[in-house]
Amino acid sequence: MAREFEFKCHECGEIHSGSPSLSYAFPTYVFGVPEEERPERVKHSSDLCRILGPNGVDGDDTIYCVRVTLNVPIHGADDPFCWGVWVTQSKESFDRYLETFSEDQSELQSFGWLAVTMPGYNTTEPGEPYEHLACDVNWGPPGKRPKIELHESEHQLFLDQRDGISWDRAIELATLAIHSG
Ligand SMILES: [Zn+2]
Repeated sequence: MAREFEFKCHECGEIHSGSPSLSYAFPTYVFGVPEEERPERVKHSSDLCRILGPNGVDGDDTIYCVRVTLNVPIHGADDPFCWGVWVTQSKESFDRYLETFSEDQSELQSFGWLAVTMPGYNTTEPGEPYEHLACDVNWGPPGKRPKIELHESEHQLFLDQRDGISWDRAIELATLAIHSG
């Protein structure tokens, strides 16, 4: 029987309940832009982010990202572990996403690369983006963030999304999510 995910936290002693979630305000690429240049080169909202090249002009070196949801099932729990992450998009996909943003996008899909680093999954050097993790982005109905499905790989994050994670692993990740930063 599935039940609500909850656990007694060893960090704060409280009971945390409900679907655990952790989200990122920015794709990792933003942090590659010198801080003083960010006001000019980073154009973002809560759903969209464009990172302009060093010349500050939208062009071939612009990186386009959209905010999406990556769900990882938790064995025995009603709701998944919910990561609010960013993925890169081609200019074409990004423009189309914008143009159809207020419409039903359920039939629409695009390709993306995961553009965040996640605690508990850092197999690269700290701060490196997961450029090697490809995914399909399912855009979905209006007002809902798109959901992603990772492409098959050896990476633990792909395996976790496909197979789900144990209750204990979810506790470990949720504790990191709640109490880091
Ligand atoms: Zn806690």
